[in-house]
Amino acid sequence: MSSPDPARLFETGAAIPTKLEEEGRVTPMMAQYIEIKGANPGCLLFYRMGDFYELFFEDAETASRALGIVLTKRGKHQGRDIPMCGVPIDRADDYLNRLISLGHRVAVCEQTEDPGEARKRGPKEVVRRAVVRLVTPGTLTEERLLDPGRSNLFVAVSRTRSSEEEWIYGLAALDISTGAFVLSQSAQHALSSEIARFEPREIIVCEPLSEDERVRSASEDWRAPLTVLPREGEGRGERRLRDWYGVATLDGFGQFSRSEIAAAGTALAYVERTQIGAKPALDPPTRREAAGLMQIDAATRANLELTRTLAGERAGSLLSALDLTCTPAGSRLLAERLASPSAELEAIVRRLDAVSYFLRDGSLRAEIRKLLRSAPDLARALARLAVGRGGPRDLAALEAGMRAAFDIQKRLAGTAAIPTEVESACRVLAELDREFASILGRALVDEPPLERRAGGFIRPGHVAELDEARTLRDETRRVIAGLQARYCDLAGSKQLKVKHNNFLGYFVEVAAPLGEQLLRAPFDEVFRHRQTMAESMRFSTAELVKLEAEIASASDRALALELGVFEELAGRAVAHGSALKGAADALARLDVACALSETAALDDWTRPQVDNSLAFKVEAGRHPVVEAALKAQGKPFVANDCDLSADGQEGGRIAVMTGPNMAGKSTFLRQNALIAVLAQAGSFVPARCAHVGLVDRLFSRVGAADDLARGRSTFMVEMVETAAILNQASPRSLVILDEIGRGTSTFDGLSIAWASAEHLHDKNRSRTLFATHFHELTQLAGKLPRLLNLTMRVSEWRGDVVFLHEVAAGAADRSYGVQVARLAGLPASVVKRAKELLAQLEAGARGAPIQALLDDLPLFSAGPRLEAKEERLRTALEALELDAMSPRAALEALYDLRSLSRPD
Ligand code: ADP
Repeated sequence: MSSPDPARLFETGAAIPTKLEEEGRVTPMMAQYIEIKGANPGCLLFYRMGDFYELFFEDAETASRALGIVLTKRGKHQGRDIPMCGVPIDRADDYLNRLISLGHRVAVCEQTEDPGEARKRGPKEVVRRAVVRLVTPGTLTEERLLDPGRSNLFVAVSRTRSSEEEWIYGLAALDISTGAFVLSQSAQHALSSEIARFEPREIIVCEPLSEDERVRSASEDWRAPLTVLPREGEGRGERRLRDWYGVATLDGFGQFSRSEIAAAGTALAYVERTQIGAKPALDPPTRREAAGLMQIDAATRANLELTRTLAGERAGSLLSALDLTCTPAGSRLLAERLASPSAELEAIVRRLDAVSYFLRDGSLRAEIRKLLRSAPDLARALARLAVGRGGPRDLAALEAGMRAAFDIQKRLAGTAAIPTEVESACRVLAELDREFASILGRALVDEPPLERRAGGFIRPGHVAELDEARTLRDETRRVIAGLQARYCDLAGSKQLKVKHNNFLGYFVEVAAPLGEQLLRAPFDEVFRHRQTMAESMRFSTAELVKLEAEIASASDRALALELGVFEELAGRAVAHGSALKGAADALARLDVACALSETAALDDWTRPQVDNSLAFKVEAGRHPVVEAALKAQGKPFVANDCDLSADGQEGGRIAVMTGPNMAGKSTFLRQNALIAVLAQAGSFVPARCAHVGLVDRLFSRVGAADDLARGRSTFMVEMVETAAILNQASPRSLVILDEIGRGTSTFDGLSIAWASAEHLHDKNRSRTLFATHFHELTQLAGKLPRLLNLTMRVSEWRGDVVFLHEVAAGAADRSYGVQVARLAGLPASVVKRAKELLAQLEAGARGAPIQALLDDLPLFSAGPRLEAKEERLRTALEALELDAMSPRAALEALYDLRSLSRPD
């Protein structure tokens, strides 16, 4: 997806002329359109006309391109055709979905009065219309527009000065679909990684932050569209927060920094701007300490494919390989844990205890999982009810969710040795209002409709008045059915039927010949002609009209009563909001714990030992995604060990990893990073045993693709990522480097890789895995004490290379590149020629720079000078006429050659 330019949701001079003198020449409807469009810049305007939302001008062109729908025209504006396209309202959600996923924002403009009312005002009056809501990627609530297993939030960003050169950024992440509202703050270098952690669908700033380089680049890194609101005055954010929650001071919510409060204010401004009058039930803001979480920047996050693959898919990500949750809320929480692994020992151990607990008791786990499956998405149902977009099914969801919560709590309450995490969830579930749950159970029918306007969702016997209205309505229907017999007698025919359609209401239908009779006296006193069809005629009667009016009024009354009950129940649900949300959260936590223990049981995962040490030791580790893919093809995965612990030293070891392409280096690197992520997310890990000393930051740089959209070459991207690591990694960090220096010339690349390895060893001292195709680096092991060499074992069989996928100590003897090229199908002649060249190169040039490097000679001059010297030597050698030389001349020539080979 490419993000459209930042959208300014305030007036900056609309694209469509709005000047009064021009309005004089447009139709009243166009004038209304132009006015509404002008007030909603940055959005496509869905303008309601009857059963369609119409789009005009540029909007029509954009939407017809994006949706593949026909572009037509309607009338003229300033002498030119007005482009138009429309979407039927009953399919509007589909179209909205597509526009939103492309990063557009849509202003939905409805008719706010009956067309009849407008006509009463005058023949030329247009129906009143107003924008009722802006639909944007980060502010969805409708079930049909949301991905159940993914949170749907936006992040608002603000900044304040912390020093002459530095800014502090405030972040507010808000998920309207669940009410979650989290604040945090970030130093400027970490902004992109802090934003990426929330995986926002949209980033919101107030002017002038649309010009902030870091915000723009975060939006590009994460491909979340940037939305800009007008500048706000100092202190506005705090006032907005206080007003929203109706409190005199924010102290009750905790301590927030100035930038966090400003960001929270921007977030609320955006809610107000998009929801227009509807007030979502938001949790009070809570602060998330970035310090308590493992820091993972956007590039690392993308490279490791934690919650989605590089192509943006969920399938193939770490999340999809281990997500066995039973509920969408559980799936969202698991995604959040993987996206933000903890860096707090206590929290990690608490989560691991819960997984162990459910792992020990398989039947308990199975029962809880079964109950969880019957629990609908409480948080999202509640959020829809709060903004007035809920329906009877959302109330039913609350009831079913509460019932599941009680059953789960009951099942868990009696168990022995219950761990803190599970116990605290139980406590929250027990606090739910049983009385409210049973009222809902009594009030609602078993399968209520989606829309409340459909009616029929309140159970008979719940409200006496409603029962009466329904009886009246149904009785009347029966009376009408009875009328048929009377009319048959009257007309003297059995061929008469009483029918109903939306256009005529109730009517009598007879075959044409009988109809002719009814048109005449005395029948015409009773039967009034309405319609003549090909073979039949239709009549109404005074009695039918009266009864129909009675049915309509009884139905209206019944519906009004049902809607009243709905409002009351929805109000009660919102009043119970915080208990319900607490329960939703507790159910999600239990779901995650059970799901992780299910994965551990099925895939033979083990509990990692996590502590404050700087150890990183994995025995028989596996890559969960690659393992699953291989398993599907019936192939085994080879487990591998990894030990980066430098016991007793302030830091970790660097493993330099060599081996041919396709041998499994990247897989090994990534699996160890994933094991760290899983362990700190509170999950068991795919290994025989694992010891992970808390990782504060995880870095990975993996052969990146050109980022041409941002005008960066592969090499530039690589260097930017490498710079970030060398500048920021600490002894507590885990660093995964898959190739450095590939995108430039050999000597350049080798020098950069070499210098980076030294820096990592001496300065960063991080636990590091460094895969490289520069074999020269393996020689560093003799020089740097905490550096070790690992290689992927291969064997050769009849000249072909066979990958064993086994990691062993030591350096690769050769790179096998030519063999791999043959496997890939390069023409035999090219492979043969490459082999010859390789033999020559290996005998010649390669040895010299290694020696030069080890001797710490200035790197940058070594290559070219040696090449020139070699050339001179070669020319001199070739010029010797050996057969014609005397022994003395030969000795002299040897002296000459030696002096040629000496350093200048
Ligand atoms: P490299 O980075 O060395 O080029 P990869 O890590 O991309 O190699 O691995 C290449 C392929 O080898 C993988 O797609 C996978 O199918 C297979 N592979 C890698 N590691 C293992 C392993 N430990 N056991 C079995 N197969 C593996």
